[in-house]
Amino acid sequence: MTECLFCKIIEKKIPAKIAYEDDKVLAFHDISPKAPVHILIIPKKHISAVNELTDQDGEIIGYLHLIAKKLAKENKIDKSGFRLVINNGPDAGQAVGHIHLHVLGGRKLQWPPG
Ligand code: AMP
Ligand code: ZN
Repeated sequence: MTECLFCKIIEKKIPAKIAYEDDKVLAFHDISPKAPVHILIIPKKHISAVNELTDQDGEIIGYLHLIAKKLAKENKIDKSGFRLVINNGPDAGQAVGHIHLHVLGGRKLQWPPG
């Protein structure tokens, strides 16, 4: 059995507030939101981090962004603006070892990030 938290969410062994799902990706609301809209988009294929991407993963990584665009519009942050983030490794604060694209919006976001 997988020990990966996000694989367990994909398998519906752990509940999540799902924002979008298809055969390739799952999107769900972050349990500890850092902005009024904070959604995580993950590939159903387990990829642990950007560091582990292979040449075969280009399509899925692009696809995560297309879903981000769709969810930004649905959550009405497309015009006001939003940020897409993938943390990789300790200095970036990556806490879950299943690659995930953060969609953050609904307030003015600071730059540079802390
Ligand atoms: P990162 O720090 O980039 O690895 O982001 C991990 C994110 O996953 C954090 O924003 C957490 O709040 C979020 N998170 C952790 N556990 C859950 C969960 N069970 N459901 C939804 N989001 C979660
Ligand atoms: Zn996983």
